[in-house]
Amino acid sequence: MDNAQDSAARPTPKDWIAGIHAYVPGKSTGADGQVLTKLSANENPLGTSAAALAARAVAGDPARYPDPDSNELRVAIGAVHNIDPARIVMGTGSDELLNLAAQAYAGPGDEVLYVRYGFSVYDIAARRCGAVPVIAPDADYGTDVDALLACVTERTRVVFLANPNNPTGSWLPKAEVERLHAGLRGDILLVLDGAYAEYLDLADDDGALDLAARANNVLVTHTFSKIYGLAGERIGWGTGHPAIVDMLNRIRGPFNISLTGQATGLAAVRDQAFVVASRQHNSEQRTRFVARLEALGNHGVRPLPSKANFVLILFEGALSAEQVYLGLMDYGYITRWLPGQGLPQGLRITIGTQAQMDEIAEAIRVMCEAAK
Ligand SMILES: *Cc1c(COP(=O)(O)O)cnc(C)c1O
Repeated sequence: MDNAQDSAARPTPKDWIAGIHAYVPGKSTGADGQVLTKLSANENPLGTSAAALAARAVAGDPARYPDPDSNELRVAIGAVHNIDPARIVMGTGSDELLNLAAQAYAGPGDEVLYVRYGFSVYDIAARRCGAVPVIAPDADYGTDVDALLACVTERTRVVFLANPNNPTGSWLPKAEVERLHAGLRGDILLVLDGAYAEYLDLADDDGALDLAARANNVLVTHTFSKIYGLAGERIGWGTGHPAIVDMLNRIRGPFNISLTGQATGLAAVRDQAFVVASRQHNSEQRTRFVARLEALGNHGVRPLPSKANFVLILFEGALSAEQVYLGLMDYGYITRWLPGQGLPQGLRITIGTQAQMDEIAEAIRVMCEAAK
């Protein structure tokens, strides 16, 4: 009876896998299923470059595998950012690269470090490979380099830092990023997640790509999901020392950027005018929206300074973040309330069109008056 099956037996997932809580995506509908204007996932309100959409429509023969190495796309990305394409690795979204970075350099018994109120994928990436996630204290919702460095132990293998950070919008200047890097042992991989880097004013370079070009232990990731308006195509890229790029290339999916992804991404990179317009729209509308929220400071409304395409608003007065989250649904908007990330007082709102942001700011003002 060697083959007999005990009907109670079942495959046992690894402890560290069973402990993972699935990523919670931004919603697009309300509780009763009505479709709402989605300002919960930091997508581009301007949509996608017209040239990219045109390229997507004629992407090629779907019966054929795509280029396994996304060569043309890597060359185009390298040209924009002045990076040797050999030092660029593509990912099915930058999420794939974040997970692969943890998997390649950390495992059971190791620690993966990031700051409190960091991107929720870091917790999953750490646990997926059996490592222990370690969370450094923040400094008033921003990244505290000293606190991060104080959490480094002999078991630390990977440090994640999103700059700008999601969901806080906070940003570390170049000198601080350099200080963080200089304080880490050379055998610790520093992953600088630049998902929102293209939203920075050109004067605000944090030196991440520079570090990736010269350091042995830095991986910088970028995505097409945010400013390029291609979240649905799942395209990300990373750059760092050739040994890191080589390692990630060995374990990524062999054809990890689809045919349409490569064609669309290529046309999108070549349309930098769309990126410039998106950055400008974002910075104007974010400034205008934040000014309106700051005028509600006496009601305990506190927008955190943001360099990204969203604002995290803290509600520290009579009106709660939950009330605003629910109230905005009545106006037709879904935003991101974050109790699951330890931020029950916080509401993250993606910068949309001017009409949308004006309507939301006014709605919050009306709710403040009613809550007094
Ligand atoms: C949105 C986001 C990403 C991008 O994920 P993709 O898989 O590329 O869509 C990565 N990091 C942070 C911090 C983000 O907010």
